Amino acid sequence: MGTVYRSIRGMHDFLPVEATYSHSIEEYIKNILHHHAYFEIRFPVVEETGLFKKAIGKNTDIINKEMYNFYDKKKKTISLRPEGTVSCIRACIQNNMFYQSQVQKLWYHGPMFRYERPQKGRFRQFYQLGVEYFGCNDIVVDYEIIILTVNILKNLNLLSNVKLEINSIGTLKDRKNFSLVLKKFFQKHIIHLTKHEKNLLSRNPIRILDSKNQNIVKLLKLAPKLNNYLSKSSYTRFEQLCNLLNSSKIDFIINHQLVRGLDYYNDTVFEWKSKDNLGSNHAVCSGGRYDNLIEYLGGKKNSAMGFAIGIERLLIIKKSVDTFYFNYLTIDINVLVVEVAYLMLAINVSEKLRLTWPDLKINTCLQVVKKKNYTKFSKNIKSKFLLVFSSRALNMNKILIKNMFHKETYIPLNRIFQNPCIFKK
Ligand code: ATP
Ligand code: MG
Repeated sequence: MGTVYRSIRGMHDFLPVEATYSHSIEEYIKNILHHHAYFEIRFPVVEETGLFKKAIGKNTDIINKEMYNFYDKKKKTISLRPEGTVSCIRACIQNNMFYQSQVQKLWYHGPMFRYERPQKGRFRQFYQLGVEYFGCNDIVVDYEIIILTVNILKNLNLLSNVKLEINSIGTLKDRKNFSLVLKKFFQKHIIHLTKHEKNLLSRNPIRILDSKNQNIVKLLKLAPKLNNYLSKSSYTRFEQLCNLLNSSKIDFIINHQLVRGLDYYNDTVFEWKSKDNLGSNHAVCSGGRYDNLIEYLGGKKNSAMGFAIGIERLLIIKKSVDTFYFNYLTIDINVLVVEVAYLMLAINVSEKLRLTWPDLKINTCLQVVKKKNYTKFSKNIKSKFLLVFSSRALNMNKILIKNMFHKETYIPLNRIFQNPCIFKK
């Protein structure tokens, strides 16, 4: 026997149930974005490696450990995109989008790639649906973006399964000042740090705040706090945001340890975390403000804020609520013939049914089912209704309808196009 190939580790297939379920949720979110006047943007899955290195920061886990880098045939280094924001900005700068209008409201959806250790909710190819708001840094933008995520999760009926955490990470200068103090603090406790944390301390000390190592978690209680090192304007922004959220009765937790794995953020950062479905990988939606990135990548200075939803993580939570998610594969009407002479009629009737009832999933069984096999065959067909063409029925100008409880009735053929109640779910 030849080699049996398997998918690459950490890259999974979406089988039809999963794909259909995922599609319906993504469509639902896209519809909400459409109603908020966001427009779609699509960009390539690969970019020059240098773009990601510059934007995400060379001392981040993504760049150091998680990138898929390749040489193309001309020995150029290209990378599979690990996230969408950077490519989105590159595309907007390249296509002069920032000059056409001040505010741009965009969304994207597609696969991202990170070489991480695969586990529940953590893959090497995963999907993100991301949103970016360019052109205004007023605090009401931060508020509106967060409210948009509230709306999405509320409409998906998931608000009780997730919690919102917010923080301000201040300006780059604030973080530089704070990093020095944090470094000093941890140098006094260096014996408690693993090799990885010592490495972080020298390269990107802020990331220590994110540690899940219990020794570090304890030490962090005694460590200096980033919020005490915020500049006045960052501090005021954060206070204003909290007031706005409070005035709208949005439940949130201030987590002063919340930082992001990408260097480009400033001021507001937020995460929606699962309360219990995702283990330690609990961020299902993460976002923040990044007012310097566009200029840093060669564009005109322009403020920006956005977020990305991890689709696989969203599906894990949503499935725990929708216990019947596998019903997404159910066919509404299956059209069946027991004599070959009626096959073309069945095809034409199916086509007319699709035009009449555009929301229904209608399948034509192109395999003729012999009379003697009909009972067995029809029992195994998973559909809400079975329409059967047989000479017995057609001689009376009728058709046989069988519902999912196996109740059979003969009805006049033309009624299936007229009476919406016949195929009511
Ligand atoms: P984490 O801390 O879990 O590694 P992150 O901070 O790296 O997440 P972002 O870069 O902000 O995540 O990505 C936005 C969202 O994409 C996350 O909130 C999460 O839902 C999802 N995500 C990130 N990495 C993965 C992955 N490897 N597999 C599946 N989903 C992911
Ligand atoms: Mg990560």
